[in-house]
Amino acid sequence: MRSNVLRTAQCGLRYLSRRPLSHGPKVAHQIYRGFAATPVTREERQWSTPLAKQLAEAINITGPIPLASYMRMCLTGDIGGYYTGAIEAGRDQFGRKGDFITSPEISQIFGELIGVWFVAEWMSQGRPKQGVELIEVGPGRGTLMDDMLRTIRNFKDMASSIDTIYMVEASVELRTAQKNLLCGKDAVMTESEIGWHSTSKYNGLPIVWTDSIKAIPQDSSKTPFIVAHEFFDALPIHAFQLVDLPPTQKPTTPESNNKTSSSDSAAAPNRQWREMVVSPTPKGTTHADLGTPQAERHDPVPEFQLTLSPSVTRHAQYLPESSPRYRALKSIPSALIEVCPDSSIYASDFATRIGGSSTSPKPRPSGAALILDYGPTDTIPANSLRGIRQHRRVSPFAAPGLVDLSADVDFGAIVEAATIASPGVECHGPVEQAYFLEAMGVQQRAEMLSRKLGAGPNADEKKKEIERSWKRLVDRGPSGMGKIYKVLAILPENEGRRRPVGFGGDVSP
Ligand code: SAH
Repeated sequence: MRSNVLRTAQCGLRYLSRRPLSHGPKVAHQIYRGFAATPVTREERQWSTPLAKQLAEAINITGPIPLASYMRMCLTGDIGGYYTGAIEAGRDQFGRKGDFITSPEISQIFGELIGVWFVAEWMSQGRPKQGVELIEVGPGRGTLMDDMLRTIRNFKDMASSIDTIYMVEASVELRTAQKNLLCGKDAVMTESEIGWHSTSKYNGLPIVWTDSIKAIPQDSSKTPFIVAHEFFDALPIHAFQLVDLPPTQKPTTPESNNKTSSSDSAAAPNRQWREMVVSPTPKGTTHADLGTPQAERHDPVPEFQLTLSPSVTRHAQYLPESSPRYRALKSIPSALIEVCPDSSIYASDFATRIGGSSTSPKPRPSGAALILDYGPTDTIPANSLRGIRQHRRVSPFAAPGLVDLSADVDFGAIVEAATIASPGVECHGPVEQAYFLEAMGVQQRAEMLSRKLGAGPNADEKKKEIERSWKRLVDRGPSGMGKIYKVLAILPENEGRRRPVGFGGDVSP
């Protein structure tokens, strides 16, 4: 067993502490006026990264772009995206030398308990003998899957029920890192129409890497067990703000014409959603102009800024109208919301794999999805985009491609998308990570690991590390991991009769 100690570098989380986006409310009132108002000698401008230059050139042609487009290019774009171009540039995102640390990298216990959770689900669902698939989206270094597989190996009947392990990963370099960990450095990867294949060091199970979940075949005879840890927060968001139109100006979009309910129109007859868009900061912009907080003012002025689109974009017409949760906010002046269409796509996909859909019903819903991430329990995220670099919070609009971008996860939107997509699923949670891990026996597992270390000065140091790391995962302080991180489960529909373990239920063998 690997030493827990190696995992416990005391460094900053992807989340870091929560505080309002410095580029939020202030810029929300700025309106982008176009390049005509800001004569920029664009050719001469020095950009911090090749991606910054590419973005600026694209915006020069198309006009300001949605925040989601900016985020997508920064994270997974072909030219120097944070995940897709990082290692090639000699950087590692994770750990002390990287930009942030995640729970599986803090303690092996995290992945072990998630493995146990899936074993408990497998037992509760009648211990299927075959057709089980393990799917992880956004596996990072592969540590979580490694810890899960090492745990599941101890439950031989479940281990032998697994057909295939799927890893959904956009980054070529991270796919290789995952293969090295799960299959060994010398294992080869072969390519097929679906993705890239290799064989796990655990029971010789086949592992398939794909770059999107859509590439994984949907088969209603399978039992998919899906895990997503700190994946949804990396999916691109659109941001919108409500603006009050002058009394004489009537909203003219389809949204205001006929889609709003009568109560919506009564509450806000003259309000309209506008999209926040990204454009280069005009030359001469200062930190004061952008409202940068004092702590970030020694950084160069960000090359890009977020402004409110002066007109109604295509996304502003339909995304904020796509759910009653957003429409209910129309009575709140200047309300801000973030909408993540990709997150709904993933949630719908998970749900239909588990429960089938109304057009393609699954004879017997089976499987489960466990989503662990940060975000509010029951409100819609707003102003939550953050940039992290080398364990420090930085502007999300500086050095594109070198800064990790993430946003709070809207768990309510995930539940909504999953239950609309499949009549065969139900959701449990979100519950706080501390509650989940404690119910899964984090303390008992830590004590067991410590006992195995025996006695001696070396062992004492390792025991202290074990204790520090598990306590960090369940810290309920205001920005502690136990409180900020939440866990949501999607399960086969059973009219709420069986609660899963970790969500108030027991293991039912
Ligand atoms: N789950 C890991 C890594 C979290 S970082 C951990 O907790 O340590 C986010 C992961 O998602 C990375 O592996 C990144 O490359 C991957 N990723 C981000 N956006 C993606 C996308 N659109 N499609 C597939 N993978 C993506």
